[in-house]
Amino acid sequence: MEEIKKKRIAILGSTGSIGTQALEVIAEHPDLYEAYALTANNRVELLIEQARRFMPDAVVIANEAKYQQLKEALADLPIKVYAGTDALCEVAEAGPVDMVLAAMVGYAGLRPTMRAIQAGKPIALANKETLVVAGELINELALKHRVPILPVDSEHSAIFQCLAGEMDNPIEKILLTASGGPFLKCTMEELAHVTKAQALKHPNWDMGAKITIDSASMMNKGFEVIEAKWLFGVRPEQIQVVVHPQSVIHSMVQFEDGAVKAQLGVPDMRLPIQYAFSYPFRVKASFDRLDFTKITNFTFEQPDTVRFRCLALAYEALHRGGNMACILNAANEVVNAAFLKDRIPFLRMSEVIEQTMQRTQFIAKPTYEDYVATDAEARRVAEEMMNNN
Ligand code: NAD
Ligand code: MG
Repeated sequence: MEEIKKKRIAILGSTGSIGTQALEVIAEHPDLYEAYALTANNRVELLIEQARRFMPDAVVIANEAKYQQLKEALADLPIKVYAGTDALCEVAEAGPVDMVLAAMVGYAGLRPTMRAIQAGKPIALANKETLVVAGELINELALKHRVPILPVDSEHSAIFQCLAGEMDNPIEKILLTASGGPFLKCTMEELAHVTKAQALKHPNWDMGAKITIDSASMMNKGFEVIEAKWLFGVRPEQIQVVVHPQSVIHSMVQFEDGAVKAQLGVPDMRLPIQYAFSYPFRVKASFDRLDFTKITNFTFEQPDTVRFRCLALAYEALHRGGNMACILNAANEVVNAAFLKDRIPFLRMSEVIEQTMQRTQFIAKPTYEDYVATDAEARRVAEEMMNNN
């Protein structure tokens, strides 16, 4: 095996669910990886703790009001301390960075990820919203700057692992598995009354609040369909969502000869994070192993796009192309935040998203500036729709 050089990783969103698990991977392999930069939005105490432990070259807090606290807490250490979103982009672009882990949540991750690509940095991509909003643009940029985009999302990592060694063998179909979330068995009537607390209890994964709500509405799976299109260059008809509540198969690829390859494992995001870091190699890890003798129930079913309307809306956005998925994402960020604040009931989310998709200006060939304008416009429209009831 070729010797693996120690990788210096900039983690955008180090205090989140993905960010903290990425630091666990780094802690387990100090000979292979080091945290070059750590960034957070608000959680300054955790960022301070992480900085003292991992001794990065730089830290950034996006919320400038917390800069002083961060600066003072790290004054005794040779760590550069910055604040604001520009600084966030700058640490990702820095010369010594070998890889950027995009682990921020939402649309906010788009610009720093674009800047990192433009600086020629390989991307480990957790921030799926970046590809949902601007997949075509991101692919063009990555091609131009010869930058690999390595998926961290567990399903896409699974697909990527299935494709290893397949050279250019065409994909016939991607089977994207979905746990179905906490409301898989709920009737429409029950869905109308589910609470935020119920939605936040995901059966198999412990994740940030936003993606947990997206999983409950299955918008997360819709986003993953869009993400798969841009990552693997397949048509929407080639992506089939399969509900697999046990979350043991993380996704599958069917080839032209009918062979199906799958990647399996216990649900643990550290594995896909580590694979993005170590690709094309595999690195020994302490994660739990599957015990097949304990798997008694292994099931698959079709998703219900009537009860989980968000999934249908995501397919629609994908078919319509242009800035439609950007509109879908912006409206979803608005309703997701509103649901988390108990401002709207569960089923109202997909209604507002649909209305926003109908009312926001469609652009067939959007530029980056168009995406920025579309995001702002769609948020405004979604707010208006929510208040209109
Ligand atoms: P999280 O909410 O736990 O963490 C988000 C991180 O981003 C935090 O460090 C936060 O400080 C930072 N952040 C948020 N908004 C920011 C802003 N405006 N400016 C700067 N920093 C900001 O989220 P998460 O669950 O870790 O998810 C991160 C991304 O990874 C999301 O796009 C999600 O869809 C994706 N993802 C997560 C999981 C998972 O298991 N958590 C799995 C697959 C994909
Ligand atoms: Mg996923």
